Amino acid sequence: MQDILIKNGIIVTADKTLQADLLLVDGTIAALGEALERQGAQVIDAAGQYVMPGGVDAHTHLNLTVGSFKVSDGFYEGSAAAAFGGTTCVVEHPSFGPDGCSLLHQIKSSRLQAEKACVVDFGLHGVFQHVTPSILDEMQMLSTHGVSSAKIYLTYSGRLQDRQILDVLNRAKGIGLLTAFHAEHHDIIDFLSSRFQAEQKGTARYHPLSRPDYAEAEAIYRIISLAEAVGDVPVYIVHLSTAAGLRIIEKAQDRGLPVYAEVCPQHLLLDDACYEDPERGLRYIMAPPARKAADTAALWQGLAQGSIAVAATDHCSFTFGDKLSHGRDDFTKAPGGIPGVETRLPLLFSEGVLKNRLSLHRFVDVVSTAPARLMGLFPRKGHLAPGADGDVILFDPKMEKIITPKILRQNADYSPYEGMLVRGWPTTTIVRGRIVVREGKLLADQGWGQYIDRGPAVSTSINEGERHEKR
Ligand SMILES: [Zn+2]
Repeated sequence: MQDILIKNGIIVTADKTLQADLLLVDGTIAALGEALERQGAQVIDAAGQYVMPGGVDAHTHLNLTVGSFKVSDGFYEGSAAAAFGGTTCVVEHPSFGPDGCSLLHQIKSSRLQAEKACVVDFGLHGVFQHVTPSILDEMQMLSTHGVSSAKIYLTYSGRLQDRQILDVLNRAKGIGLLTAFHAEHHDIIDFLSSRFQAEQKGTARYHPLSRPDYAEAEAIYRIISLAEAVGDVPVYIVHLSTAAGLRIIEKAQDRGLPVYAEVCPQHLLLDDACYEDPERGLRYIMAPPARKAADTAALWQGLAQGSIAVAATDHCSFTFGDKLSHGRDDFTKAPGGIPGVETRLPLLFSEGVLKNRLSLHRFVDVVSTAPARLMGLFPRKGHLAPGADGDVILFDPKMEKIITPKILRQNADYSPYEGMLVRGWPTTTIVRGRIVVREGKLLADQGWGQYIDRGPAVSTSINEGERHEKR
């Protein structure tokens, strides 16, 4: 593998900015310093660009199947889209497996498929779709398979009951597993959806009304209470979407409880006005739904201040075609999920840094370093220091593009952010010392991405009492 020397760039990490060169040797970072030289290295001129650790997306569904629906990308196209968007490592949430399957079933099958296809590195979350004594025993095996987090749903058919959650958290505590939660109260949603169906209220505008903010807040409060009963066990709330939920998380954090939260661009940037048009509104069928403007404002603040640790995507590219053909008369029949893995960094930079909602360092932290820490990938990932993987991106803070499906690599027939002018895009993506994307071209073969054995979560600043600003 040819060495790479990145010259003249501005190195930006979660805690510092400096003018320096970066040298990659044998796929890892070898040196960071002024006026580096290296014979035989490929020199990349990064003048005017930020040189950052590659993005880590802690929440993707690149290869999801739900019932008869399958996402449009799959591991190859989905990971290529990630690379074009400056993300060098994803942690994928696999689909549910066959009824009654072992905890390792989906890990093994997803790993086999992803290893052949991915162009960026990847890890896999476990998923609890039922709980039995043997599933609880199998939890210990997760770490030997490099899996340090697993997800519980509080809604959908694979949801767990509270007592089962207690049993899982109790085992998780002993083995250092981070338990991730989809926090929505199932029965409230089921009740409201049935009522709307009975009243022939099937258009997209009823989707957010069927999943109210208190359904999320109640679920979060319950999760935190269950974790508190177990004692001293961390929980991770995926795709937090409401101010009400955030307030509960912050109160728990103020009491010193290890509660972590993730937010996605759709809940920072969209609001429920997107559901007004009955046809176009179906594009935004996802759970949780887009919320109120007051929620987005609160989430930006939480992300800036540190009560929300991570910006991920929940990338799940069901097509607009499928949403339209199944959901036209009944929003509950549309497959839920939106694409986003390619636009995460540009959106967070353009709407966050350039609009003074996030500092430049906080941006790098939430898109790369904090997810690497919580997902047990640090210091290999999310880090620019000698010894770390050569996962580096060049990011042009002045490049402007208007988002359309055409300018994106992702295999999706729409973008939820269509028409937005976005400033700041990655131009070069390097994964373990190899250039995967440069000047709009994919340069790596299928299967370049490797499965990363993840270790236990490393806490982020929230638990070290370094709140970024006083709330
Ligand atoms: Zn998800």
